[in-house]
Amino acid sequence: MIDVLIVGGGPAGLSSAIYAKRAGLSVTVLDKGASECQITKATEVENYLGFKSISGIDLHAQFVEHAKAQDIPIVKKGVVSVEKTESGFKVFTKKDEFECKHLVLAMGRSHKHLGVEGEDRLAGAGVSYCATCDGFFFRDKVVAVIGGGDSAVSQAIYLSAFCQKVYLVHRRDTFRAANYLVERAREKDNIEFVLNATVNEILGDNFVVGVNVTQEEDSRTIECDGVFGAVGEKPNMSFVIDGLHTTSQGQIVTDNYCRTNIKRLYAVGDIRDREVYQIITAVADGALVVEGILKA
Ligand SMILES: Cc1cc2nc3c(=O)[nH]c(=O)nc-3n(C[C@H](O)[C@H](O)[C@H](O)COP(=O)(O)OP(=O)(O)OC[C@H]3O[C@@H](n4cnc5c(N)ncnc54)[C@H](O)[C@@H]3O)c2cc1C
Repeated sequence: MIDVLIVGGGPAGLSSAIYAKRAGLSVTVLDKGASECQITKATEVENYLGFKSISGIDLHAQFVEHAKAQDIPIVKKGVVSVEKTESGFKVFTKKDEFECKHLVLAMGRSHKHLGVEGEDRLAGAGVSYCATCDGFFFRDKVVAVIGGGDSAVSQAIYLSAFCQKVYLVHRRDTFRAANYLVERAREKDNIEFVLNATVNEILGDNFVVGVNVTQEEDSRTIECDGVFGAVGEKPNMSFVIDGLHTTSQGQIVTDNYCRTNIKRLYAVGDIRDREVYQIITAVADGALVVEGILKA
């Protein structure tokens, strides 16, 4: 019986593991693999305290090294199902079974893809899904943000502060985003709304040079240096936990100590419902969740 079992070996999972171990608890991390980890997709991280500039892969490797130095087992297995028991949880991978008193979900989330030609080929070469992370690299450049929700409009506003021009491309003429955000975007001289427009293709050989859209039955190309996809995110919840409270988007609802509505079940990092999805916020959850566990 493990005290704390953590599903996910990204920044949130590994930080939780280190805090749990240092609190004298036995801990194991189950992780599907670094290639599914958001942090490893960040080409350059320049906003994590203590590192002026580091690739996401190198920063993650340092987190893994830190956890291993604390003798924390990181088992390379994906979780396929979870069962609540009298004393905690049974957690199943394809071949194995683990039993724990406290279960921490740290599986992160994935960006929904636009599903258009050029998107995968130019990922990291002008195609991004995170303005806070990558916007800096488009200073004084022209970018297009695709989407109509809070995230898309917020990213457009954020980018307008330092990009030469921002196109906000949305397939309808009304927004899902909050009205005040849309109004704020409209007040920006350098944000141009491209409404009733569907993206057909992201253009460029080695780097983005534009995006082709169909707007009211006419095809046109918007020349730009970067494309920010913001058509939503989905939590990496590949198994079901009966009765778990989530938002309409599937993000897990937690309290200030990362506790879910189910006793001894916690969620940390990007999989939980929060305002800011960054490495530093994911890492901070490690300290919070262990306080929650110690209070149980
Ligand atoms: C392109 C890009 C650039 C970014 N740049 C920055 C930046 O510059 N600065 C910044 O602060 N943030 C940046 N971010 C955001 C940052 O990467 C995330 O906020 C952070 O990684 C969230 O950490 P996490 O531990 O919650 O999730 P993740 O890092 O996604 O880790 C989740 C882990 O869970 C594992 N997993 C998933 N499902 C299962 C399962 N069923 N069983 C076992 N394991 C599972 C995955 O394999 C993965 O290892 C960027 C994100 C992207 C996509």
